[in-house]
Amino acid sequence: MRNPFTSRAFSDAIILTAFCLCVLFFAVQNDAFEALVDYVADHEEYQLDELILALATAGIGSLIYAALRVVELARALNAKERAESDTAWLAEHDPLTHLHNRRGLDAAVAAMEANGTTGRYTVHSIDLDGFKKINDLLGHEAGDQALFEVARRLGGIYGSDALFRVGGDEFVVLQGSTDAQAAQAKASAAVAALSEPFALSGTTAEIGASIGIASVPKGKGGVRTALQHADAAMYVAKRGGRNQTVWFEPSMKDALRHRIELERDLRSALREHVVVPYFQPLVDLKSGKVHGFEALARWERNGEFLPAMEFIALAEETGLIVELTDQLLRRASIEAKSWPNHVNLAFNISPVQFRDPQLGLRIIQILGETGLPPHRLEIEITETALVQDLHQADITVSTLHAAGIRVALDDFGTGYSSLSQLSRFNFDKIKIDRSFVEGFETDERQAKIVRAVLGLGRGLGLTMTAEGIESESQLKALTELGCDVGQGFLFGRAMPADDARRLCALDTDTIRSLAG
Ligand code: C2E
Ligand code: CA
Ligand code: CA
Repeated sequence: MRNPFTSRAFSDAIILTAFCLCVLFFAVQNDAFEALVDYVADHEEYQLDELILALATAGIGSLIYAALRVVELARALNAKERAESDTAWLAEHDPLTHLHNRRGLDAAVAAMEANGTTGRYTVHSIDLDGFKKINDLLGHEAGDQALFEVARRLGGIYGSDALFRVGGDEFVVLQGSTDAQAAQAKASAAVAALSEPFALSGTTAEIGASIGIASVPKGKGGVRTALQHADAAMYVAKRGGRNQTVWFEPSMKDALRHRIELERDLRSALREHVVVPYFQPLVDLKSGKVHGFEALARWERNGEFLPAMEFIALAEETGLIVELTDQLLRRASIEAKSWPNHVNLAFNISPVQFRDPQLGLRIIQILGETGLPPHRLEIEITETALVQDLHQADITVSTLHAAGIRVALDDFGTGYSSLSQLSRFNFDKIKIDRSFVEGFETDERQAKIVRAVLGLGRGLGLTMTAEGIESESQLKALTELGCDVGQGFLFGRAMPADDARRLCALDTDTIRSLAG
């Protein structure tokens, strides 16, 4: 609120009042009013009494007008000041959750560092699990509701003064001193609170959290170190699966260094074209013949093969996936051209690439350059790829279809399988995830799911593939259920291009005897 006693209007009013008091003093001294009355009475013909009345009325009116303007002006000034302080508030707060934001955190760090050097800082770095899916599937409004509720639950545990929202679904807790046991208890309570279901937009959703914790002695730069350490620990927690709390250990710095080295090596592997496709057979369960091969990326580094998941994930995070996909598809297409005409190439596309509007055109261009007919290529995508951007996914799938390329839904059953997606995207093929094939002989529920999915696929006229067939009994059961295509170690692992070429001519029995 403004102080009215320091304003210009106040000083003007003082001068005016002083002037009036002077006039009053002079008038009293000289009996001015009586003189005026006499003068008016003596000169009735001037109509001075009416004139004085009019002046007095105008004076009172002006006084009222001035008072109203002054009130109005004060209101406007207050609103302006409120807006200014709102802007200052916004700079350091998150308007959705009302928590401090990253700038607020910087200010808190500076204040803490100026505030003594004994004891420890404890930092919790909290990252939500599964929040992105809520945004993608239920919309941003539900996402906002979820964040608001997350902030409320976390605030209940840590207190909202110590809690900062530093990114979309990232929170930080900064405490001047806490003992390790108390810090762990709070982190566990936070994980428990966030794994309770959330009621959003008329449905319930599950969120979880991964929490990294670090504690660092106070001193210059201490808070920053604690923040970095907690982040590194959070990364490890995230990799370990949902709802983990992990304390920072020095070895985590090594993990970070390892990642940097891996990225450097992947870049040079791409320059030297040493990441290559291997080929795993897809077998037609009715004829027993090889029906195609799925290209799977293989990278031999320092004498051993790195798990595909590991370097594909790194390539996705670093953006190298575009170049990697180009190289792999080019090589796989050239290879596939040497196979008999009925043997197709199945090729995986990462979810992150599916958001790229140029993807369809690039695939078509590579086919043009290598000469592999489009109808012999089948692109495998997962459900995650679709839900991240339904609109773009629609365009890409249509572009591929228009060019005559088939599209298969990979890992069916592990993501957000929804029937509307099945009809919306017009898939040519569904690949039932390995986890169902693994369990369906012993788990009645999984068996029911496999049977239902096969029935659904038949109804929609789709080719059904079962992944991860490892045993004769799985093969027998799936063949009896009418599954069209099989893939798995029983028929063979992913193999180098030369082996795949030789395999094309063989029937299943020979293939299986080779695989065994
Ligand atoms: P995916 O597309 O589901 O590929 C099948 C994975 O299951 C392969 O693992 C394959 O070796 C494995 N597999 C096949 N049959 C069996 C079986 O009978 N039992 C068991 N236990 N596993 C079996 P891989 O090669 O390690 O690849 C893992 C994932 O990495 C792939 O899953 C795919 O998502 C991704 N990936 C591999 N190559 C590429 C690629 O070139 N581009 C992209 N974007 N992703 C790729
Ligand atoms: Ca696949
Ligand atoms: Ca798969």
